[in-house]
Amino acid sequence: MENNNCPIKQEVDPMSFDYPRFKQDMVKTHTILIPNMLPIHMTLIENILTQQGYKVEIMRNEGPDVVTEGLKYVHNDTCYPALLVIGQFIDNLNHRNDLDKVVLLITQTGGGCRASNYLHLLRKALIKAGYGYIPVVSLNMSNLEKDSGFKYTPKLIFKLVAAITYGDELMYLRNKCQTYEVNKGDTKALTDKWIKDISYQFEHKHGTSYKDIKKNLYNMCKDFDNLKLDLSHKKPKVGIVGEIYIKYAALGNNHLEDFLVSQDAEVNVPGLYGFLLYCFYNNIYDYELYGKNKKMSKISKFILWYMKRRETLMRDAMKDTKFTPMNYFHHTKDLSEGVLDHGTKMGEGWLLTAEMMELTEEGYENIICAQPFGCLPNHICGKGVMKKIKQIHKEANIVAIDYDPSATKVNQENRIKLMLAIAKERIKDDDKAEL
Ligand code: SF4
Repeated sequence: MENNNCPIKQEVDPMSFDYPRFKQDMVKTHTILIPNMLPIHMTLIENILTQQGYKVEIMRNEGPDVVTEGLKYVHNDTCYPALLVIGQFIDNLNHRNDLDKVVLLITQTGGGCRASNYLHLLRKALIKAGYGYIPVVSLNMSNLEKDSGFKYTPKLIFKLVAAITYGDELMYLRNKCQTYEVNKGDTKALTDKWIKDISYQFEHKHGTSYKDIKKNLYNMCKDFDNLKLDLSHKKPKVGIVGEIYIKYAALGNNHLEDFLVSQDAEVNVPGLYGFLLYCFYNNIYDYELYGKNKKMSKISKFILWYMKRRETLMRDAMKDTKFTPMNYFHHTKDLSEGVLDHGTKMGEGWLLTAEMMELTEEGYENIICAQPFGCLPNHICGKGVMKKIKQIHKEANIVAIDYDPSATKVNQENRIKLMLAIAKERIKDDDKAEL
């Protein structure tokens, strides 16, 4: 549905810098729409922003209209994540009656790949759709937009880092338990309870200090350890890697995690924490390899120190439980050496390779590499290194699944079922060998 009533349609030039701004006085009156990438993390972030005084809404609209709107306003050569996110924004706007009171928020990495252009693509699409008057905010760590009413305060940053720490731990524990739960729904109920608990703590000025995080993570692991699980049968262990949006967002990967659980597989999706550490390591490599931005390299070293302390807490909390803690990121990072150089950092770059190596090492040798249409970096760092990984890890059972507007869910699921059939066959062989 095109909004032909827009009073300033055609008046906003996407190439000019005179775009509508999100101003400070809009904070209390306007609703900020945010794409939903990671449900646990995003719910925590939604609560944090609400507590900071913002009116926030995580978009949960799905369905064929999202892709149709995306295809209408974005060139079909564009990366599939951009097409989906823009389509979701426009589909959402098409069904609202508070159009003069909304703001769109988009996250950007600010790196060399096309993710840095999403903002401009979105503005251009909004103008074409008749929504050119709606402000767009960029959430990025690269200072891409300096005039936004969205303010990073130290308090907000500490809360966001804590939310990502809790979000990753919860996602990991949920994935470890949900395939084995005896009472259906127990894992989800416990995950929801913890999201509520943490949000309540944030609201009452708790949950962000080192001591609070340590205590919460410990109690969280203990709670999940006490869940009633049936571990009597081996199940295929499947890791998911790929472009960040398609890897995490159910909208992007056609509810891949749910599908795998329905097929009786244990899922492991590497956390968001790793992606952030990867970005900060890249600032150091940029300076070491290309002499770029010494100051940023120094700041990144400090941030890495801060984040690594919390990473240790995430691992230590699992010590006396049945769960195997996730690897230290510096170990994961080193695993890509000899396969892909750390100078390869467009998109998910060397992280994608490192995660596939890590998952194989951890026993998740069945890997789905989610590849969006239009993504050159991921085809190089994902598909491009599979042969090498299989040479190093003979047991690796990796399948690349393409996600694009014309790919059918049935086709994607059939290819995954084929991979799972191999995994189940191997479990049978292992059982026979044990006997
Ligand atoms: S990582 Fe790939 S899909 Fe994502 S913006 Fe870059 S090129 Fe596009």
